[in-house]
Amino acid sequence: MRIKQIETFILADQLSESFFFSQWSYSERQICIVKISTDSGLVGWGEGYGPASIIEAGIKHLTPMLLGQNALEQERLWFDMYRKTLDFARRGVLVASISAIDIALWDLKGKAFAQPVSVLLGGQQRNRVMPYATGLYFSNSDKLASDLATEATSYVDQGFKAIKMKVGLSIRTDLEHVEAVRAMIGEDIKLMVDANHAYSLREAIELAHLIEPYDISWFEEPISPEFYDQYSELRSNTSIPIAGGECEYLRYGHHQLLKNKSVDILQIDICSAGGLTEAKRVATLASTYGVEIVPHTWGTGIAFHAAMHFIANLEPIPGRLMSPDFYIEYDRTENGIREALTSPPIDMQEGYIKVPTGPGLGIEVNEEAIQKFSKT
Ligand code: CA
Repeated sequence: MRIKQIETFILADQLSESFFFSQWSYSERQICIVKISTDSGLVGWGEGYGPASIIEAGIKHLTPMLLGQNALEQERLWFDMYRKTLDFARRGVLVASISAIDIALWDLKGKAFAQPVSVLLGGQQRNRVMPYATGLYFSNSDKLASDLATEATSYVDQGFKAIKMKVGLSIRTDLEHVEAVRAMIGEDIKLMVDANHAYSLREAIELAHLIEPYDISWFEEPISPEFYDQYSELRSNTSIPIAGGECEYLRYGHHQLLKNKSVDILQIDICSAGGLTEAKRVATLASTYGVEIVPHTWGTGIAFHAAMHFIANLEPIPGRLMSPDFYIEYDRTENGIREALTSPPIDMQEGYIKVPTGPGLGIEVNEEAIQKFSKT
């Protein structure tokens, strides 16, 4: 099964209302997806996480070395792409280009063998995953705390059992928001906070102590991803589990977080850190440190389903008869591309999503939606 063509698409959608978090605001969604066609007639789809036009340029750069190659040899092709970009792109967005291609090759492989990607990764350790709602971003509302509490209630009403909210505006404001949201959702819903590395170590320790009474399941990216030691110091100063990893690339980047004891929960992004091939290696590496993985997941149904298959395959650490639920991040902010691009629609029943059983990623990509959102 030889690779015949690699096409990229940049999809863009203007938001009806912009929203912001501790670093910047969103007024538009832009995503780069890739379609790999083979001489067998099968096609595979992948997605990169990061600036779409740069990911697209990276994929175009890598395309000549892939054309004519056997699409089933995705690990060898991964290494070729890695080796030929290593000298000038050991970290960063070019790895997202490799990731998008790798995911498309896994989709192709699943279709070629008529098996779900999770089975090809080694098997489904579980047949359902618990989504947590990512939302509760900031707006310019003068009653933001009560708006956030109302939004959190809407997720509970939809059946979510876990919700992640943004922090990072200021310690006092964050505390006010956490108090308002926890008061509204009650004790039974898991609540996580994400600062997108807005704080210094001193500030992060202060905020962690203030929100400890609100049963926070994890504190995500409290401080800059550059400061591995400070993450470790924060961990020893709070009872809240510390999460991070969405800014890391490859096994080498994630190894920094692991060997420095920086995180309780490792959040690799499959669409930027090296694709499913590298994510599987990072999962093995994390298992040697006894660190749990909840991938960072953003973008369309392609990214979401790649994560579903990866999570389905994760070994529980430690193993036991009654395995705990495994989480998947489910972005609930406005994204017309996500809603239209893939089918079947993501279906949450009683707080869980079933692991797809169809071949490859288990989704169809709607080419009409590509036409609609394509940026020319
Ligand atoms: Ca995050």
